[in-house]
Amino acid sequence: MKQLMNAIIEKGFVISDGVLKVDSFLNHQIDTNLMINIGKEFAQRFKNENITRILTIETSGIAPSFIAANELNVPLVFARKKKSLTMNNDLYTSSVYSFTKQETAEISVSKNFLLPGEKVLIIDDFLANGQAALGLTNIVEQAGAEVAGIGIVIEKSFQNGRHVLEEAGYKVESLARIQSLTDGTVTFLTEQPILSN
Ligand code: 5GP
Repeated sequence: MKQLMNAIIEKGFVISDGVLKVDSFLNHQIDTNLMINIGKEFAQRFKNENITRILTIETSGIAPSFIAANELNVPLVFARKKKSLTMNNDLYTSSVYSFTKQETAEISVSKNFLLPGEKVLIIDDFLANGQAALGLTNIVEQAGAEVAGIGIVIEKSFQNGRHVLEEAGYKVESLARIQSLTDGTVTFLTEQPILSN
C-alpha cells in the first residue's frame, strides 16, 4: 500500500536492525486519513471471506480495525492486556510474549463478544515473530470460532511471524512488507532500498 509505505519512509525511524518506530502515525499520534485508507484496504482484501467479526489487541490495533469493521459492517472486539475490574470471569485468555516489551502478558476477551461459529478476521499493527497474532488465534479457537484471516499493517518479513502463521494454516495479508531495517534503512520486499532517516 503506497500511502503507508510513503509514511514509513517519511515519518518512520529505524531504532535498530529489528525495530521500526512509527509513533507519529500509528502507535501514538494517528494519521486519520491514512488509518481510514488502511481500514478500507483490509476490508477490500477480506470482503469475500464472510467475516462476522474483527478481533484485534489493544492499543494500536484498534484504529485500523475500527475502520475495517465499519466497512465490513461487523462488530469489533479488542483483546485486553490487563484485566479490568468491570470484566467478569467469563473470559478467554492466552499468554503472549511481547516482542517490544520483552515480557509475557495474559490477554483476554469476554466470552460475550466472541461466539462459536463466527468467522473472525484478526488485525494487528505489526508482525514480528507472530506471538500476538498466535495468541489471538488461540482465543478464537477457544471460542469455537474460525480464523478467516490475519491482517497486518506492517510486516517485518525478516522475522519469522509470517512463516509461523502460514505453517499453522492461516492466511496473512500485510499492507507493507519490510525486508530489512539494516543500517538505518527501510527496504521493502521487492523494492529498492530507500533511506528513511
Ligand atoms: P510479534 O507478536 O509478532 O512478535 O510482535 C508483534 C507485536 O509487537 C505488535 O503488536 C507490536 O505491538 C509489537 N512490535 C513488534 N515489532 C515492532 C516494531 O518494529 N515496531 C513497533 N512499533 N512495534 C512492534
